Amino acid sequence: MDFAARVDRIEPSATVAISNKASELEAEGVDVVDLSVGDIVDFDTPENVKQAAKDALDAGHTGYTPSNGIPELKSAVVDKLHDDGLDQYGTENIVVTPGGKQGLFEVFQTLIDDGDEVVLLDPAWVSYEAMVKLSDGSLKRVDTAQYDFALEPALDDLAEAVSDDTEILVVNSPGNPHGAVYSDEALEGVRDIAVEHDVTVVADEIYKEITYDGVEPTSIGSLEGMEDRTITLNGFSKAYAMTGWRLGYYAAPEELIDQSGKIHGHSVTCAVNFVQHAGVEALENTDEAVEEMRSAFEERRDMLVDLFAEHGKEVPTPEGAFYLMLPVADDDVAWAEEAIETAHVATVPGSAFGTPGWVRLAYANSEDRLREGVERLAEHDLL
Ligand code: PMP
Ligand code: GLU
Repeated sequence: MDFAARVDRIEPSATVAISNKASELEAEGVDVVDLSVGDIVDFDTPENVKQAAKDALDAGHTGYTPSNGIPELKSAVVDKLHDDGLDQYGTENIVVTPGGKQGLFEVFQTLIDDGDEVVLLDPAWVSYEAMVKLSDGSLKRVDTAQYDFALEPALDDLAEAVSDDTEILVVNSPGNPHGAVYSDEALEGVRDIAVEHDVTVVADEIYKEITYDGVEPTSIGSLEGMEDRTITLNGFSKAYAMTGWRLGYYAAPEELIDQSGKIHGHSVTCAVNFVQHAGVEALENTDEAVEEMRSAFEERRDMLVDLFAEHGKEVPTPEGAFYLMLPVADDDVAWAEEAIETAHVATVPGSAFGTPGWVRLAYANSEDRLREGVERLAEHDLL
C-alpha cells in the first residue's frame, strides 16, 4: 500500500501507546502501576448517569440524532456555559461530539489551511501537535516549563511568537500535562495578543471542574473582546468519569459551526444517541459525585507532592486536572523506559508534550497505588 504523507508526519499518541504497553505487560502477569494515561481508575461513572443511559435505551433512543446533538443536551450545555460567564453561546453555537478529541479535530480541520500557524503553550497535550500536522498547519511553541508552568511570565515570549500569520492559539486551563490554572492577568494578556493579531483562541476547558485550593478558572471566552474569537471546548470524560462513553462538545460562532458541522456530519454523523441522554443527567445532577472525585484528587495531589518532597524532589504544585510533572534526567524518554521496564511504573515522557527533562504522572488512581508507584521509583534510584 502507498500511504498518504500525512500519516508519516505524526507519531502514535504517546499517552495512549504507553498505556497500551502497560496493559500488554499486565497481560503477561506483570504488576504495573500505570500512571500514564489520563483515565480515572478508581471512580466509576455516577450511578444516575448510567441509569439515564439505560432508560434512554429502554425508551428507544437508538437511532441517529440531529447531527449537532439532541436539543435537551445542547440546552443543558448552554446553561453550563452561561454559568461559566460565556453568555455569547446559544444552542445554535453548539456541536456535540463523540469525545472532546473529535471536537478539536473538527475545529483544526475547519480553520487551518496549508502552512497556517498554530501557537501552543508548552508543555501541551500530545494530540494538539498531531492534529495541527494532520491539518497541514505549522507549529510555534512557547515554553512555560521555565516558569514552573505559569503563563504570566511567558507573555512576552508569547507576544513574540504570535504574528499576523497565526490562525489559532490554544489555551488549556487547567492544563494537561502540568495542572496549572492560568490567572486572570495572564488570560487578559493572551486576549490582548489575540485581538492585536486577529487570532482565534481554542479554549480547551476539559479539566475546568477539577481544581484545588478553591481556585476558580476563568473562561477566556468570557473576557471582553474574546466573545467572537473563542471556541470553547469541553467534554464529559474527566469531570464525570466518563472517558469510555466518548462525549464532548464545542461552542463557537455560528459561522464556524456552519463549516465545521459539515466535517462533523460527514465523519461521525452524530454522537451516540443514548449517551447524549446520559450527558444531560451528567450536566444537571452530579454535583455531589463531581465534588467527591475532585476532593479525592486534591488529597492525592497533596500526598504525591509531599512524598516527592520526602525523596528530595520539589515538584510544581498542580492547581487543577490530575497530572503532575516530575523533573527527571535530561533524557526523559530513557527515564520513562527504565521506569516501566525495571520499576514497572508507567509514566509519559515530557518530550511528548514538548518539554524534555520532565515526565508526567496521572494521579486519578488510588492512594495505595500512587504510594506504591513512588516507592518503586525510589527503590530503583529513579528519584
Ligand atoms: N483535551 C485535553 C487537554 C485532554 O487531556 C483530553 C484527553 N482526555 C482531551 C482534550 C480529549 O478528551 P476526550 O476525547 O476523552 O473528551
Ligand atoms: N487525555 C488523556 C491523557 O492525556 C487521555 C488520553 C488521550 O486522549 O491522550 O492521557
